[in-house]
Amino acid sequence: MFIDVAKIKIKAGDGGNGAVSFHREKFVAAGGPDGGDGGRGGSVIFQADDNLSTLMDFRYKRKYVAQNGEPGRGARCTGKNAPDLIIRVPRGTLVKDAESGLVIADISGSEPVVVARGGKGGWGNTHFATPTRQIPRFAKPGLPGEELEVQLELKLIADVGLIGFPNVGKSTLISVISAAKPKIANYHFTTLSPVLGVVKVGPEASFVAADIPGLIEGASEGVGLGHAFLRHVERCRLLLHLVDVSGSEGRDPIEDFEKINTELANFSPELAARPQIVLGNKCDVATPEQVENFKRYIEEKGLPFRAVSAATRQGLDGLVGEVYNLLQTLPPVTVYEPEYVRPQPAEEGGRAFTITRADDAAWEIDAPWLERILMGSDVDDYESLQYFQRQLADSGILDELISRGVQENDTIRIGDFEFDYVF
Ligand code: GDP
Ligand code: MG
Repeated sequence: MFIDVAKIKIKAGDGGNGAVSFHREKFVAAGGPDGGDGGRGGSVIFQADDNLSTLMDFRYKRKYVAQNGEPGRGARCTGKNAPDLIIRVPRGTLVKDAESGLVIADISGSEPVVVARGGKGGWGNTHFATPTRQIPRFAKPGLPGEELEVQLELKLIADVGLIGFPNVGKSTLISVISAAKPKIANYHFTTLSPVLGVVKVGPEASFVAADIPGLIEGASEGVGLGHAFLRHVERCRLLLHLVDVSGSEGRDPIEDFEKINTELANFSPELAARPQIVLGNKCDVATPEQVENFKRYIEEKGLPFRAVSAATRQGLDGLVGEVYNLLQTLPPVTVYEPEYVRPQPAEEGGRAFTITRADDAAWEIDAPWLERILMGSDVDDYESLQYFQRQLADSGILDELISRGVQENDTIRIGDFEFDYVF
């Protein structure tokens, strides 16, 4: 089955906590701090894989979690960094933030892209030793790994998109101009997977064409207009619009041509403005008048028209060269720029906080970074407490409490921790 959209959750690994440890040796009463740093959490990385052509796997597995970093240990042992988690997707997959719909990354190139960053490891207590604070009983906890829900959307990468009603000869055309072997059938519902074919023009020259089935399949049956498939022509630089000029199925070529263009315009005006070459296919079974009438109609619209026959290959050699030359004058395949701005991790985002007065008159400080410091400290230890209090002062929390009228013995609440305010 061809699946071209999927929603998954990804979670990068948390950083390992720094260690609180003191050097111990026989006959040495108490040594200095030697708690090592925590290791970095694994990141979640996306990588294009040309052996994949569908997002089907993501229907079965929806959560991807990278490993956490190892905590630091005594004797200055640094915890191991966790390995990154690599998620392989078909080339051309867009990774979007599921909530906002903004593009995080376009996996079209060969470079791996980090989408969720692993948390940094915490600092061991060796970092906190100063001449005046020789027994630091706290360490910095690791930072959490980024976590988000992403929408994956496959947008094929092709220079040329073949569009047109079912049965007009799209699959036949791609099978004769490239090595691709799609199903060719004289009925409307063939397999609904796009097929990419490399069209060789010379020893060094080629372009990629995409046969997009299902474009209008189902439209006549009221099943839907196949908009999902239009996503796959969005990157194409040039459209080859195939029409059965013979009207062999009792269809009207002009009507078909207009319907497809209306579909394109409904989907995206940009797509409707993409250069098109109109191919009057099946001219081997069309009368010269049929070809002539349609040609006149198209040329009056200012569009290029070519009469071809995918079955007999009439007109195809010239067409392939013409397409190649035209492509040289067109802008490159669209690569979507990232639009998503990742929330700043607590640490780099400065020491943001908000203070609210709870119903029980306690001062509630919302500052996840401060909670993490608290979690990693021994609050009964004098020096740890001093370090914590300096964080309160340096971040401006203290100033704000004072300016809002904090009183002696008021309760200060930070996450699960509560303190009395004392001058
Ligand atoms: P698609 O649905 O647009 O991919 O159309 P197909 O390539 O599957 O072709 C539909 C039918 O039209 C098949 O029976 C083909 O053999 C036939 N066909 C395709 N191109 C030509 C052509 O140039 N001339 C004639 N006579 N038949 C064609
Ligand atoms: Mg087909």
